Amino acid sequence: MLMKVYADNAATTKISKTALAAMMPCYEEIYGNPSSLHSVGQDAFHAVRDARVQIADILNCAPDEIYFTSGGSESDNWAIKGVAELMAKKGKKHIISTKFEHHAVLHTLKYLERRGFEITLLDVYENGIIHLDDLKNAIREDTALVTVMYANNEIGSVQPIREIGAICRENGVLFHTDAVQAVGHLPIDVEADNIDMLSLSGHKFHGPKGVGALYCKKSIRLPNLIEGGAQERNRRAGTENVPAIVGMAAALKEASDNLEENMKKLSALRDKVIDGLLKIPCSRVNGDRTQRLPGNVSMCFEGVEGESLLLYLDMVGIQASSGSACTSGSLDPSHVLLAIGLPHEVAHGSLRLSFCEENTAEQADYIIEQVPPIIERLRDMSPLWERLQKERGNA
Ligand SMILES: *Cc1c(COP(=O)(O)O)cnc(C)c1O
Repeated sequence: MLMKVYADNAATTKISKTALAAMMPCYEEIYGNPSSLHSVGQDAFHAVRDARVQIADILNCAPDEIYFTSGGSESDNWAIKGVAELMAKKGKKHIISTKFEHHAVLHTLKYLERRGFEITLLDVYENGIIHLDDLKNAIREDTALVTVMYANNEIGSVQPIREIGAICRENGVLFHTDAVQAVGHLPIDVEADNIDMLSLSGHKFHGPKGVGALYCKKSIRLPNLIEGGAQERNRRAGTENVPAIVGMAAALKEASDNLEENMKKLSALRDKVIDGLLKIPCSRVNGDRTQRLPGNVSMCFEGVEGESLLLYLDMVGIQASSGSACTSGSLDPSHVLLAIGLPHEVAHGSLRLSFCEENTAEQADYIIEQVPPIIERLRDMSPLWERLQKERGNA
């Protein structure tokens, strides 16, 4: 029997009923401009203010340390370019990050490199986790910023954020984290975790798309992103996206209220699927088995082409993702999988399943049942698989 299994929640999530319910009045009743002085405007102003307080409470920061943005990419760009501009004035033009950041970070660092900044990208080793000694050794007198993602979007590995933050504090270096995959999925406390700046995005935790936030510690005088009106304390002008902001706050509140329960449920689902799929010959898990996002399954199957696997899975109702991205006509394997040391031909056979709390044990069984015959079929047609078998004397 065909099932419908959406398992691509790391790409985006379905909006929750709670978030949607919170948004609707913002279209129908609270439609004023938060900058207007009349009551309809003031209702919208209060809705945005309440959302800011709610998010700040969850992250454990002050409401005026939250800046609403259009999403994770904007928050990453703003944080990194902003600090770069700020610190360049003090002669600090060195930035430390990792090899497997999201492109919103990596491409921003490339942009800065072209403008005279020096970038050090830390190794993430086979399990997708940096070594703290590498970080300590990389910090210099002129280091302006350390930016390390909280959890990786492809392989799910979670970094020792609190320790990284502590090292940055000791050395007087600012610390930004792209926490887009972690917020709403892991317990986060910017104070305890020694985080100076943090990016988050609404649509990765059942909020609406096109809205996010940047947490920025009050002591950092971040340069303005958009000139114009006085929104976001003069730093990002433009009339607020009131429904999206309100929806994002409601989604985050819901995720954080159910955090422990969801983490337990998802990690059980994750481990069940990983154990099930590991029975496939010549398969491997990408990333750390325990320091891992609760809902992330990332695996490679030798002699399989990731894109084909996805298409076949879609035909049986399973929506997943592969690490590889098609760049300008040539198939480049994912930079994340290459960063953890996988050879090109192995990285091509990648599969990412990312679960949310709506996924069920029955769906996990269905995945475990559907994937192996598809892999077998793809291998039967694969010249690469044939070659590998010959090399190993199995043919
Ligand atoms: C999705 C994602 C982003 C980008 O967020 P958008 O809101 O889609 O711009 C950035 N970083 C990570 C780790 C992501 O998973």
